[in-house]
Amino acid sequence: MTTAETRALVDIPAELLPLIPLPPLTVLSDARARGAECVWGGEPLSTATAIDLGERDTDGSHWFPRACRPCARRAVLVARNDHPGLCEQCTDDTGRCEAGRALHALVLELRR
Ligand SMILES: [Zn+2]
Ligand SMILES: [Zn+2]
Repeated sequence: MTTAETRALVDIPAELLPLIPLPPLTVLSDARARGAECVWGGEPLSTATAIDLGERDTDGSHWFPRACRPCARRAVLVARNDHPGLCEQCTDDTGRCEAGRALHALVLELRR
């Protein structure tokens, strides 16, 4: 059994990653593109605290954005607030949208 010191890393589900807008690769420094620094704020990251934003592939370049928790929270909050306007399921019935619910849950998780 694992004793969960539950300030655990937040794992962003793969299906939510495309909903969270990142800065374009062209404006990012090398350190931000390879996940050494926060992709949004440029804070230095450690493996213990960084939030993984998945491997990206842009015009043949592989990059590995990561973020600090406060920036990730802000970005996910924006994604959540913008989501209903972009989502057909939400236009229909917000309560039944999995993605909307998952984004909301992620905001709460990042708030801790
Ligand atoms: Zn940051
Ligand atoms: Zn939706």
